[in-house]
Amino acid sequence: MNETSSYKDSVSTISAQGRRVWVYPKKPKGRFTSARTVVAIILILVLVVTPFIKVHDHPFMLFNLLARKFIFFGLAFGPYDFAILVVGFIAFAIFIILFTAIFGRIFCGWVCPQTIFMEMVFRKVEYWIEGDFRKQIALDKSDWTFQKYQKKILKHIIFLFLSFLVANILLAWVIGVEELYKIITVPPSQHLSGFIAITLFSGLFYLIFSRFREQACTVVCPYGRLQGVLLDKNSLVVAYDNVRGEPRSKINKKEERTAGDCIDCNLCVDVCPTGIDIRNGIQLECVNCTACIDACDEVMDKVKKPRGLIRYDSLQGIKDRIRFSITPRIISYSVVLFLLVSLFSYLLTTREDIEVNILRTPGMLFQDQPNEKISNLYNFNIVNKTFEPLNVSLKIKNIEAEIVLLGSDLNLDPLQVEEGKFMIVADKKVFSKLNTAIFIGVYQNGKEITTFKTSFLSNIKLK
Ligand code: SF4
Ligand code: SF4
Repeated sequence: MNETSSYKDSVSTISAQGRRVWVYPKKPKGRFTSARTVVAIILILVLVVTPFIKVHDHPFMLFNLLARKFIFFGLAFGPYDFAILVVGFIAFAIFIILFTAIFGRIFCGWVCPQTIFMEMVFRKVEYWIEGDFRKQIALDKSDWTFQKYQKKILKHIIFLFLSFLVANILLAWVIGVEELYKIITVPPSQHLSGFIAITLFSGLFYLIFSRFREQACTVVCPYGRLQGVLLDKNSLVVAYDNVRGEPRSKINKKEERTAGDCIDCNLCVDVCPTGIDIRNGIQLECVNCTACIDACDEVMDKVKKPRGLIRYDSLQGIKDRIRFSITPRIISYSVVLFLLVSLFSYLLTTREDIEVNILRTPGMLFQDQPNEKISNLYNFNIVNKTFEPLNVSLKIKNIEAEIVLLGSDLNLDPLQVEEGKFMIVADKKVFSKLNTAIFIGVYQNGKEITTFKTSFLSNIKLK
């Protein structure tokens, strides 16, 4: 590593005067770039196709935050699934922490939509129109000619169009493809909020991918900001092997080489989309995009040295010269992860299609009814978690009594939450004590699904 650590005091893309330093990364190529391109194509296909997948005429996935309606793998979730959502969220957060502690920022380089769209879509359009980094630098420095206007206008029109597509994909995940189709096909006045959302998101994505770029990873993304506490010296990261590479020096064919393997060609810096020098060590800006690995491997091939001067490895591994291996720490983290995922899976698989809550109305005693009868009042809450209409019925199982619904019926529409009141009416002679346990059978389309225990207050002691 460099003896000075001044690189840690500033962000590579912000100058000492606080100005933005524009990064012109060289077009990367190599085995990691090819593999990442394949992964990116698969992930973009998944992102685009998934909102069109239906299970029994309903979306396979939906994240409608505004309507608080979520569908994961064809199963509908709502606010009533709070426990599952909380466990799922905690499991996901711990998964991120453990995964990062072991595998560093692999997510950033291979899966994050920001990196995928920036490096695999928008940046490729830029290379196609403006050429590789030196041509881009020359174009930006040149006077405004007809050709320069042509290139810049074409690039930004394509960027705007791509941003519009990305905004539509995002909205399809949130509101579903049918709603999105309506927003696109009817006049904006009939879908003003949807139209505003698409316009705002298109504008936001255009700004991010055309101007903001790597700043999203270095100054905004909370995951990026947390790297300092999530990573340790055993985490797998894109790292420069300073033991092998230093002291770096240019190739001098006239002298026998005594320096390290780094020939100080600067190609690893040229390809870096965040403008850093990986030879300085792990840095906040590094999104593990692997471009520097490919660049350096190509150089090593040319100078006939082994590949991997820059590679996936841990800092401890580089220092001790041992390859990354499964350690007790990785095993213990994985066990915790496994337990969390098991708990989450258990909650998912034992989740009922229908949820019933019955509670004797607080603060109420019994009510006298004609013909020597007595009643108690109850509140109920029934949730239909399926996409099918449900007919629910309630029946007292342990005493002779009748349930009288007050102003609501138990025919539930798909995903409906029905709240209401009912009375349990019975002959006074049925009761022999003040507080009698009552068991209410809950039937779904005629089939018993659960039994609910509550209590009935009688007037027996007050006679
Ligand atoms: S690409 Fe490899 S050889 Fe060239 S400067 Fe970077 S680390 Fe050194
Ligand atoms: S240092 Fe290497 S892996 Fe990190 S962002 Fe730059 S090119 Fe990508």
